[in-house]
Amino acid sequence: MFGLKEDWSLDAPPRYFTLEDYTGNEARWCPGCGGHSVLGVVQRICRDKQLPPEKTVSVSGIGCSSRFPHYMATYGFHGLHGRALPIACGIKSRRPDLNVWVSSGDGDCFSIGAGHWVHAIRYNMDMVLMVFDNAIYGLTKAQTSPTTHQGTKTNTHPLGAPLPSINPLTVTLGVSNVSFVAQTVDWNVPHLYATLKTAYEHKGFSFVRILQRCPQFSEHTYEEYKKDASRLKLLKHEKGIQLDDKITARFPVQHEHDPSDKAKALTLANDLDPIPIGLLYWDPDAPSYSDFTRLGLEMPVDKKIAALNDALDHFAI
Ligand code: SF4
Repeated sequence: MFGLKEDWSLDAPPRYFTLEDYTGNEARWCPGCGGHSVLGVVQRICRDKQLPPEKTVSVSGIGCSSRFPHYMATYGFHGLHGRALPIACGIKSRRPDLNVWVSSGDGDCFSIGAGHWVHAIRYNMDMVLMVFDNAIYGLTKAQTSPTTHQGTKTNTHPLGAPLPSINPLTVTLGVSNVSFVAQTVDWNVPHLYATLKTAYEHKGFSFVRILQRCPQFSEHTYEEYKKDASRLKLLKHEKGIQLDDKITARFPVQHEHDPSDKAKALTLANDLDPIPIGLLYWDPDAPSYSDFTRLGLEMPVDKKIAALNDALDHFAI
């Protein structure tokens, strides 16, 4: 409804965003792919938080998960392999007002993008990193990824992956200035929703590992965990991921964990059976590199040019 204020300026009409406002191209992931759940959940969080689509950016690298920006009707940047995080940090440094969602896969993030992953954790800029971990390279058809379980037969290791996989949770927890580490699964949508919503609400870099089904190339990896809920250990705490009682009751194995305790978070991160899901670590007070990169953002252009000339004059002979 338009209205005139006392100073005769026009009020903007109120806006309410529906799911359709975040729905981009039709998702072309395989039937049964866990990516569909994540996409639906992120669109619901955007709707529930009423994030203006023009103030929201979806950023990705290369891989199945990296098709995410095409499926969101927000701004998007489908980047290069392993390079989603430097792009996202660049966006955040110039436009700290934008909501940034980064999607990456186990190959994209933990292999070619590993250097960027480590530094983005330390920079602690406000964004959500969702790693779709299906323990295989899916887009290029079944090569060994850093999280492929030892012994799994792949196209690059037909006799079985020879080395133990990396543990993304312990690596993330080991980086200085880490501020938010969570793990969830694509097949429990309420837990996925609550985890990503909490990650979005955290003011800093939120690392969320999503155990993601790839029925095409790694269908057995999480099959047992999906069938038997006792293979998952639900982390509970007043500072953790909040679920209603009905959802909580679906988890036979529950564990009280204070996410401010990093040593205990590391111990839990090493548990592989049952797998911990929930918030492992949270430090709301970790400093952010954004406090440095936003300096001068409001400065008029002529002052920026003068400051640059001044800086360059130091090198003049
Ligand atoms: Fe999903 Fe796997 Fe198909 Fe890729 S190959 S879209 S990860 S099911």
